[in-house]
Parts: sequence; structure tokens; C-alpha cells
Amino acid sequence: MFNLVIFGGPGSGKGTQSEKLIDRYGLTHISTGDVLRREISAGTELGKIADSYISKGNLIPDDLMVRILASEVDSLTPSSKGFIFDGFPRTIPQAEELAKMLEKRGEKIHAVIGLEVPDDVLTERLLERGKSSGRADDNAETIRQRLDVYHNTTSPLREYYIKDGKYKAIHGLGSIDEIFDRIISHISM
Ligand code: ATP
Ligand code: MG
Repeated sequence: MFNLVIFGGPGSGKGTQSEKLIDRYGLTHISTGDVLRREISAGTELGKIADSYISKGNLIPDDLMVRILASEVDSLTPSSKGFIFDGFPRTIPQAEELAKMLEKRGEKIHAVIGLEVPDDVLTERLLERGKSSGRADDNAETIRQRLDVYHNTTSPLREYYIKDGKYKAIHGLGSIDEIFDRIISHISM
């Protein structure tokens, strides 16, 4: 298996680039944001809890998020060539749990693709997306909070994965295809 993490701020293009990586390499996509939004649309108890965090731009607590991720991984494992984790981990404890979870299966993370995009561009993209996304978190106030959370809580993972030798910094400005070419030049599989 070849397991990738796609990492970056809100609106950095994780979902977009994941789709292209899946097409090319046949990886199984696990997007925690998509999983949570499905629960919200279905009106489940979990969805109600998730919405109370997401709509304020905050993270779902680690213990709950880790359980959600584990059940996704369990439901998808057998036929896959590898996973692409999109939106997870977002905290150091989540990264530690992910490593343990994979280790139990004799697996590991091979590379972390870090999409590097400045805040002003992220804000612009998310405001633009908000015009049509219908997402409760794509509005100016919530975007500010998401960026704060990203810088305070998620971005330390960059150093964490640099130390691990897994982090691949990708310049995240340009066309979707240009960015994709940069990504594939960094992964050998
Ligand atoms: P992108 O546009 O690059 O795909 P994004 O930040 O817009 O990224 P999602 O990854 O879909 O969006 O996440 C949306 C929200 O879901 C987060 O702001 C957070 O509230 C919640 N969430 C998603 N993944 C996690 C996680 N690993 N831990 C905690 N909360 C999460
Ligand atoms: Mg996304």
C-alpha cells in the first residue's frame, strides 16, 4: 500500500488534488470533512454534534474524530491500494493515533503533501467557494476562525512531519494541473 496525507490550510486545494491523485494512483479517499458533512446532511446525532463545531470554524474534538476515522478506515481497507487522508490529521494527537492505527495493520504514512498557500489567497478562495458551496463554514467570520485554528493547532504538524522526513512542501499557487504536476514530481510510486 501507498498511504498519503494531503495537508494544508482551509481552501488550500486538498479535496481537488485528492481527486486527481485518486484517478492516477487508484488510492482510496478518506476526507474527514466529507464524512462529517454526510452525517450533517443525513441529520444523524453525530451530524448534529459535528455541525456545532464546524459552523463555528472549530475542530471536532480529537477523541471523537479519531473514532470516526477508525471506522472509515475499517470499512474501506480490503481492496485498496492505499489511502489518501484528506483533512486528517489536523492535530498532533490525531497524527499519533493515525500512526498507531496504521502500524497495527503493518502500514505507515509514506508521504505528506503540504499545499502551501498564503492566508489572503485562502480567504479569497473560500469566500468565492461560499457563493455556491452552501457550506455553513464558508463565510468571512468562520473563515477567520478556521485560519486561526489552522495556524495555532494544525500547522505544528508541518514541523512534526518534517522531522519525520515525510513532508513534501508544494507551492500551492497556480493552475490545478500545475500544482498536480508539482505533487507527482515529489512522489515516487
Ligand atoms: P479544503 O478546502 O482544503 O478541502 P477545508 O478546511 O475547507 O479544506 P474540510 O477538510 O472539509 O475543509 O473540513 C471542514 C471542517 O470539518 C473543519 O473546519 C473542521 O471543523 C471539521 N474537520 C474536518 N476534519 C477534521 C479533523 N481531522 N479534526 C477535527 N475537525 C475536523
Ligand atoms: Mg475538503
